Amino acid sequence: MASDCLFCRIAARELPARIVFENERIVAFEDIHPQAPAHVQLIPRKHIASTLTVAAEDQSLVGELVRTAAELARQIGFADDGFRLVFNTNAAAGQTVFHLHLHLLGGRMFRWPPG
Ligand code: 5GP
Ligand code: ZN
Repeated sequence: MASDCLFCRIAARELPARIVFENERIVAFEDIHPQAPAHVQLIPRKHIASTLTVAAEDQSLVGELVRTAAELARQIGFADDGFRLVFNTNAAAGQTVFHLHLHLLGGRMFRWPPG
């Protein structure tokens, strides 16, 4: 755990968050500034700064983030309508928290290309 990392601290429950799912490897919690009716962040407990530093040994962890996001989409109820999964990476994409996180956004229509 990186003690100066916001999302490490949420995963360790040192900071409050509305956690919607957790297991030994990953945590999912509601975004504090939701950009859709449902906006969940899925993170590994392991500190990984971004997609650029996902190691070979982390591949199954990233797959688990995606599979868990899909399961949450089913449970929340917008899987059939559609939803968006996003990994922002570095400044041009607007990454602000440097602990890998998968955005799950659902409950409205999304434009393409994204802004
Ligand atoms: P990024 O821009 O790095 O892809 O996304 C970071 C996300 O983390 C943003 O959607 C932002 O609203 C969310 N976020 C930032 N700080 C907090 C926090 O303290 N708690 C929660 N729940 N979400 C946060
Ligand atoms: Zn971290």
